[in-house]
Amino acid sequence: MKKHNFNAGPSILPQVAIENTAKAVLDLNGIGMSILEISHRSKDFQAVIDEAVALFKELLNIPEGYQVLFLGGGASLQFCMVPFNLMNKKTAYLETGVWAKKAAKEAKFFGDVDIVASSADKNFSYIPKGYTIPADADYFHITTNNTIYGTEIRTDINSPVPLIADMSSDILSRPVDVSKYALIYGGAQKNLGPAGVTFVIVREDILGKNERPIPTMLDYRTHIKEGSMFNTPPCLPIFTVKETLKWIKSIGGVREMEKINIEKAGLLYDAIDRSKIFVGTAEKDSRSLMNICFVMKEEYKDKEDAFMEFAKGRGMIGIKGHRSVGGFRASTYNALPMESVHALIECMEEFEKLNA
Ligand SMILES: *Cc1c(COP(=O)(O)O)cnc(C)c1O
Repeated sequence: MKKHNFNAGPSILPQVAIENTAKAVLDLNGIGMSILEISHRSKDFQAVIDEAVALFKELLNIPEGYQVLFLGGGASLQFCMVPFNLMNKKTAYLETGVWAKKAAKEAKFFGDVDIVASSADKNFSYIPKGYTIPADADYFHITTNNTIYGTEIRTDINSPVPLIADMSSDILSRPVDVSKYALIYGGAQKNLGPAGVTFVIVREDILGKNERPIPTMLDYRTHIKEGSMFNTPPCLPIFTVKETLKWIKSIGGVREMEKINIEKAGLLYDAIDRSKIFVGTAEKDSRSLMNICFVMKEEYKDKEDAFMEFAKGRGMIGIKGHRSVGGFRASTYNALPMESVHALIECMEEFEKLNA
């Protein structure tokens, strides 16, 4: 049976990226060795990381003055590296979910954290509006896509202080005006590659401005100076990221990607909105294009397990909602084909016919 992979992360990757990774595991570019067994300092690997950086810059139109890094430690290590490097006394965070809270928690080790707004009052089902970013904060931190709740900030906001964004689950899903951000980071394993590598896009002139001594491995300047090779980088995940970036370029770049993402999510949200039994959990103006969260209406709640089974029988993978929201979550990342969206909608409609 054809599997439709709606996993939230690690998640679906372009088939061609997986195939080319498999080839490189057996023999990298015909050099007679696997990518797994060559030196990260070899010219063959240097070419891989150089291409990944160049494609990242090209696809996101990253201006001069910014560096692209590939590090270990996940987005979770960035929660602490960001304040370690950039915070003096006070920062500001937008609290839009569990990941945003975890990010803010690390900043609290270093000083005052102003939570400028929170959507905790409604289980993070919306993106707060009308807040004020304090002008005396060292930076303002946002989570652009809230993977668990299916909400997303889809425009580049204006901030009077350096803007930092966790884009783990929506990087390269749309064009971004990088010049509005001081730093963007994320784990690759949602929309970009396998688990094990973290991307960081950082504007160099924001670094070196605090008094705190920074351990070598946690200092962005170390990794900039050494081209992400201060220590051994996650070589294989970086290779797959490069292949994913090549794939995005081949289909027309992030503008085209965004068009497709709007279409895919739109189809699914329309199906939810016209359903008698399903209802979306995120407020409409905050809906994510990447993670589509829905539950069964009160009177059908007892059918949720039955739908899970029904969907499983039709090849749907990973549609169980996160425990803090319940119900269902279909992650429609870049690599998810339109065909899978149609298959899920059909599955929902069939179930509704049989049960409503
Ligand atoms: C998954 C996720 C994280 C955590 O990423 P790790 O790489 O596992 O540390 C952080 N932020 C967001 C928005 C996520 O979706």
